[in-house]
Amino acid sequence: MSKIAVFPGSFDPITSGHVDLVERALPLFDKIVVAVGINSQKKYLFELDRRLDWLETVFAHENRVEVGSFEGLTADYAKSIGAKYLLRGLRNASDFDYEKTISQLNNIIGEGLETIFLIAQPGFSHISSTIVREIIKGGGDATPFLPEEVVIKK
Ligand code: ADP
Repeated sequence: MSKIAVFPGSFDPITSGHVDLVERALPLFDKIVVAVGINSQKKYLFELDRRLDWLETVFAHENRVEVGSFEGLTADYAKSIGAKYLLRGLRNASDFDYEKTISQLNNIIGEGLETIFLIAQPGFSHISSTIVREIIKGGGDATPFLPEEVVIKK
């Protein structure tokens, strides 16, 4: 039985931190589905299609990584594609506090769905999509935090 993990997130935009996490997690799974969760209440900086295009381009060389998107519960999406694992990253204690509860809930509603956490590497733990968006909104250059395939014109 193949081990499939969903890596859910907003990826608004994808950063080098996300890419590092997927690369480090690949030896653990047969397939990782990087999936954009669509929350109609949330305002995004980049359109869904643009975020998906970036994900497709960044992982084009990796045939065990697929890109998807979903509305509704992450646990339902995971079930619909036969994934028994979620992948998430932990950068700091606030990530932990938030992720702990979500992971416990997903384990119940996902009927045993397990979240596998990887601690961010020191060289990536300061990177977040939030910081990248702030740099872009402020007219700065976010290139140092982005994979080379993600080009954002000022
Ligand atoms: P969400 O809106 O669900 O938090 P994000 O796209 O911001 O979506 O993040 C998705 C996942 O990637 C989260 O588990 C987050 O902790 C992880 N992540 C984000 N940035 C990094 C990083 N620099 N290093 C490791 N994990 C990260």
